[in-house]
Amino acid sequence: MINSTVAELSAALAAGDISSVEITQAYLNRIADLNGELNAFITVCEESALRQAAQADAARATGNNSPLLGIPLAHKDIFCSKDVLTTCGSRMLHNFISPYNAAVVERFNDAGAVLLGKTNMDEFAMGSSNETSFYGAVKNPWNNECVPGGSSGGSAAAVAADLCAMATGTDTGGSIRQPAAFCGVTGFKPSYGRVSRWGMIAFASSLDQAGPIAKSAEDAAIMMNTMAGLDIKDSTSIDKPVEDYTASLNKSLQGLRIGIPKQHFAKGLSAEVEQAVRNALAEYEKLGASIKEIDLPNSHLSVSAYYVVAPAEASANLSRFDGVRYGYRCEDPVDLEDMYKRTRSEGFGEEVKRRILIGTYALSAGFYDAYYRKAQKIRRLIKEDFNSAFKEVDVIVGPTSPHTAFKLGSKSDPVSMYLEDIYTIAVNLAGLPAISIPVGTANGLPMGMHIVGGDFEEAKVLNVAHQLQQNSDWHKQKPAVLASAKGEA
Ligand code: GLN
Repeated sequence: MINSTVAELSAALAAGDISSVEITQAYLNRIADLNGELNAFITVCEESALRQAAQADAARATGNNSPLLGIPLAHKDIFCSKDVLTTCGSRMLHNFISPYNAAVVERFNDAGAVLLGKTNMDEFAMGSSNETSFYGAVKNPWNNECVPGGSSGGSAAAVAADLCAMATGTDTGGSIRQPAAFCGVTGFKPSYGRVSRWGMIAFASSLDQAGPIAKSAEDAAIMMNTMAGLDIKDSTSIDKPVEDYTASLNKSLQGLRIGIPKQHFAKGLSAEVEQAVRNALAEYEKLGASIKEIDLPNSHLSVSAYYVVAPAEASANLSRFDGVRYGYRCEDPVDLEDMYKRTRSEGFGEEVKRRILIGTYALSAGFYDAYYRKAQKIRRLIKEDFNSAFKEVDVIVGPTSPHTAFKLGSKSDPVSMYLEDIYTIAVNLAGLPAISIPVGTANGLPMGMHIVGGDFEEAKVLNVAHQLQQNSDWHKQKPAVLASAKGEA
């Protein structure tokens, strides 16, 4: 049961074959068995989860048949959740019990989903390996010597290891898609503005976007039906009707024009990943799609532009953590300045401090034009590249990551870590929707394929992913090492 999709669990609940309390207990057992090894959860909400499950069962008995009613989920620990510890993976918030729910959390609550707990993440969502968390690294369920990817690595590992039915993540430069690729699950980043950012702890506000991490594209569509929509509390949330993402999942791909960026099939891409993506492209051709090489001429500038824009925004967003109002405060400050200095020096980890320094520098008088303004200009060029490409093709497909999950501790210099998001970052700069879906394994580790759509074409992207999953089994592959674990009910 715990390896079922949300769609399957929802049908079993509706048919009365199983109760939410039973499903929830099965996941709690699985978490108890495996979280010690994987470190995917920072907080497990055992009591409240069972209480919510009982409420869901009672609501169902009165005729409520909402698709997420009673389905257990995990939220990335970047989403404020009322009365629950919300750390953002940082010592700075090690004691922060949120007094309110993020909009995303509220929407899942309203749908009757059961909150199992909060997942581990890179500190303030800065990282590609989950090694920057104050709570320690997450292990990849396929191979516990490898990283799960980041920053939503806890959510991706939890879904892959069946510690939950579904999870949320956030993606500023690749943090939903890259861990989804490394853990063999489906991760979807919606268009900027499609899902409310209210109550989601801000990293880089013009890039951050919340999205689903799930066992299939269909499940991602089910989650999007709950997550997407206007929120007047988020001024960047878009006032545009939300499509029924599940209703548009069965469109034929006959005549679909797929663009493959030549820059994403070049030096640096591992042969195994390239082959896996090409195999999946061949499946698309069988389904009636045509493939065409396209040019994204400015894509080589995306990582550099991102590492000016994102730290600049982070340096402003993180100024609120000063030890005054909430979170960590240093011991016995002698005066206000000492408190600010020591609180921030002790509360933030190395990578976060590095970003604050880079961002503050890039925004400072005298350097603003040379760095920040220039990066924004490059951002515009990148967006124009996509606009031109989408005149010729319907979706853009390539690898999510150049390789499979790497070994824990193997990347010590920041730049090589930054280059991890080489295929995903441009999409954030352009605000587009994109998904990563599994396309096979190499040496026991999963590989992901990236599908990008035009602005607010979430329905199209989800359908293109779903059609492949209807005709292949890559998304059903599971980490063998966990097969013997208990928790199955
Ligand atoms: N790896 C990128 C970074 O560290 C992206 C992180 C993210 O998407 N949150 O900034």
